[in-house]
Amino acid sequence: MAEKRRILSGMRPTGKLHLGHYVGALENWVKLQNEYDSYHLIADYHVLTTNLNIDDIYQNTIDMVIDWLVVGLDPEKSPFFRQSQIKEHTELFLIFSMLVTKARLERNPTLKDQVRDLNIENIIYGHLGYPILQSADILLYKGEGVPVGEDQVPHVEITREIARKFNKQYGFVFREPKPLLTKFSRLVGLDGDAKMSKSLGNTILLSDEPDVVNAKLKKAKTDPQKIRRNDPGRPEVCLVFSYHKKFNPDELAEIESGCRSGELGCVDCKLKCSSKINEFLSPIIDKRKELENNLDTVKEILVNGETRARSVATKTMEEVRSAMKLG
Ligand code: SF4
Repeated sequence: MAEKRRILSGMRPTGKLHLGHYVGALENWVKLQNEYDSYHLIADYHVLTTNLNIDDIYQNTIDMVIDWLVVGLDPEKSPFFRQSQIKEHTELFLIFSMLVTKARLERNPTLKDQVRDLNIENIIYGHLGYPILQSADILLYKGEGVPVGEDQVPHVEITREIARKFNKQYGFVFREPKPLLTKFSRLVGLDGDAKMSKSLGNTILLSDEPDVVNAKLKKAKTDPQKIRRNDPGRPEVCLVFSYHKKFNPDELAEIESGCRSGELGCVDCKLKCSSKINEFLSPIIDKRKELENNLDTVKEILVNGETRARSVATKTMEEVRSAMKLG
C-alpha cells in the first residue's frame, strides 16, 4: 500500500477554542487525518510573539488539546506535540534564518495584517521571523501539505522558497509543501467583524454552555436596516444568517425568504440559530467534561505525540547536518 503523504498543521495555544477555529481549521483537520499522515503542532514558541507572559501557556495548551480531542482529532492517527519540547525546531529555524532576506520578510502581507489587527507599535524580530520558524515547523516533518486559510498562504510560499534555496545550496533534502486551502475558512465574529477572534472578544467558544450561547447570539449584530420585526431584511449582510449557513443548512431557504419578506423577526431567527449551535456543541461539551476529569490521559497524549514527533525531527536534522557537512 502506498504511504500516505505527510501534512503539518499547527495552532498557537491561546486557551479554549471557538467556532471560528472549528470552521476555519479543525473541521478540515479531522477530515484530513484519514487521508494524510497528519502531525499537529502546538506552537507555544509562536505564542510569545504576542504574549510574553507564559504563566498561562501550560493551561492554555491543555485546554486546546482537549478541544482538539472533543472535535474528533485522533492522537493515534495524528500526533499532537509542543514546539518547545522538540529542540530541533529552533535549530532548523536558525539555519533557515540564513536563507531569507529582511526585505523578503518585510514584504510578507500576513505581517502587515497582524501589525494592523493587533495594533502592534514595535515590530520585534519574532514577528518578522515568524514565517521562518513556521517553515522550520513544516519542513522538520517533511510536510508536503499545509492546511491553511487564505491569510496563511504567503507563509507557505516563504516555506517553499526556503526549501528551494536550501536544496540548491546544500543538496536535496526538502520537498516543497503546498497549501491545502480550507473551504469555509472564516466565521464572522459576533460583532460583525470579518473574523471571529479571541483578541476581538467576538467569539462563541466550543465550551460555551447553551445559556451563554443564547446570550451571545441575542447581542449579535444583524441587518441594520431591519429595525422592526416585520421590516424586510437582507440575509446577505447579516452575520446570523452566515451562522445558519454553517450550522442550519436545512432551514436556510425558509429563513432567507422569511427574512426578506419580513415574516421572520430577528429575535426568532436568533433563537433558531442558537438552538442549532447548541445542538452542535452539546456532544462536544459532554466529551470535554469527561476529559477535564481525566487530565492524565490528556498529558499522556502529549508525551506520546512528542516522542513520535521527536523521532521524525531527529532524523530530518541528521539529513540536514549531513547535507551541510556539519560535524
Ligand atoms: S431575520 Fe435573521 S437573517 Fe434576517 S436580519 Fe434578522 S437575524 Fe439576520
